[in-house]
Amino acid sequence: MTFAHLGLPTALLANLEQLGYHKPTPIQQEAIPLALKGKNLIAAAQTGSGKTATFVLPMLTTLMQGQTQRKKRARAIILAPTRELVLQVNDRICEYGKGVGLASMAVYGGVDVQAQKQQLIQGVDIVVATPGRLRDLYTQRAIRFDEVELLVLDEADRMLDMGFIEDITKILDTLPEDRQNLLFSATLSRPVRELAKQAVPKAIHLSVTKNEESAPDIEQWITTVDKDKKSALLSHLIKENAWPQALIFIETKHGAAKLVSQLEKRGIEAECIHSGRTQAVREQILADFKAGKIAYLISTGISARGIDIDNLPLVINYDLPFPADEYVHRIGRTGRAGAKGEAISLVSKDDFKNLCMIESRLDHLLERREIEGFAPRKPVPVSILNYVPKAKREQAQGEKGGETSTSQTEKGPKGAKEKRREDKPKGQSKSHEKASPYKGNAADKKARPAKAKPRSNETGTGSTGDRGGKDHRSEYKAEQKPAFNPWTDSRPGKK
Ligand code: AMP
Repeated sequence: MTFAHLGLPTALLANLEQLGYHKPTPIQQEAIPLALKGKNLIAAAQTGSGKTATFVLPMLTTLMQGQTQRKKRARAIILAPTRELVLQVNDRICEYGKGVGLASMAVYGGVDVQAQKQQLIQGVDIVVATPGRLRDLYTQRAIRFDEVELLVLDEADRMLDMGFIEDITKILDTLPEDRQNLLFSATLSRPVRELAKQAVPKAIHLSVTKNEESAPDIEQWITTVDKDKKSALLSHLIKENAWPQALIFIETKHGAAKLVSQLEKRGIEAECIHSGRTQAVREQILADFKAGKIAYLISTGISARGIDIDNLPLVINYDLPFPADEYVHRIGRTGRAGAKGEAISLVSKDDFKNLCMIESRLDHLLERREIEGFAPRKPVPVSILNYVPKAKREQAQGEKGGETSTSQTEKGPKGAKEKRREDKPKGQSKSHEKASPYKGNAADKKARPAKAKPRSNETGTGSTGDRGGKDHRSEYKAEQKPAFNPWTDSRPGKK
């Protein structure tokens, strides 16, 4: 199958040819013909699957017919969770739609609003926006929605996690009813399904996560180390392996800045991005990293989703994220578009609980490799698989019994709180549903080199409040008994 078979216009085909896209990815094959017919779609598309082109190409095709660039009006709106993703999607629109006479712009907060208002006055066809800033512009009458023909919700689950539901709902209320709607999400959790009911009526559901072809090829392994030795170990690994590039994730912005100076003291140049840095600086650093001018980029979770870096060979988790889905999103920055990737995690005893959740989430233990000279004084035990946090278990049991869970108050592990404060605006939802397209063989409980595998037709559990437990030991004991596991047992609304 080629792009020409999908019914795209020749101008777009020529651009794709120039970009070296010879064959549509599975999600593109499935979704583009339906989107071209004007259908509403809900797609569970995993990161790196080529989902941007999936919604941009039919959108450009539709918009090429009709009047363009009317003052203060947009004909298509794409909502995305972060500024970085907004900019990236806008760049893609420029590439895919080169020479077709359509105008698009990126709208996001943290920068002067006047320039954005000015651009809207001149007229655009496509607005790619974070929900908060778009709502502000609408309230200030800088944009009108009466001519919107198309709406895309990209990374819908992340937008909800970040507390954008109110902004999205307000925007939806003001859009013309007669429009095409496309929703893309890594997980189809209950909050996402609720949003989809409102935003994407009568939709066709698509999921390509079951397709082997789209599974990223990521070699994952961990090494255990004492917390106070992590920066020394990282420096050692960087020097030993002379990696050309690595994206290093860390939980807190303070930790990111500290790690940069620790690496510098050991003669390794690195940069960091987090929400404490200005938008201009973040953009410049990301652009430099993408261009290969920066070898080692330390980032908080702001880069975990959507951000596409060509041929990034390696992701390092300096600490393990919470919730477990975040791990999947982080490592998804490597092994994109059919390339091979590697993901290494530095795990100290403090990370044990997160490790349990991640390995349970993946359904297999991650291979452990010992680095000489860094064996921890405080060993990290082997995880118990099928770990389900107490709150989640109780909630699942409550749901089974037709009750609402009362145990929503458990706190996440250390570090999770600061991360949430850092990356998420106020009023965020507590939804952290299971997302991973990666899954190992459930029967194989032994540690082994882990290749990312797709989870078949993942729809999530719809449960909320996965914040871990206060005392993990008591939870592990409880875990020895057969317990309802909302990650593997029946899933409400599973398609
Ligand atoms: P996305 O999931 O949209 O972020 O895309 C992931 C990566 O795949 C990006 O680098 C795209 O440029 C690339 N890509 C998307 N579609 C194709 C295709 N059909 N052939 C080759 N590369 C693609």
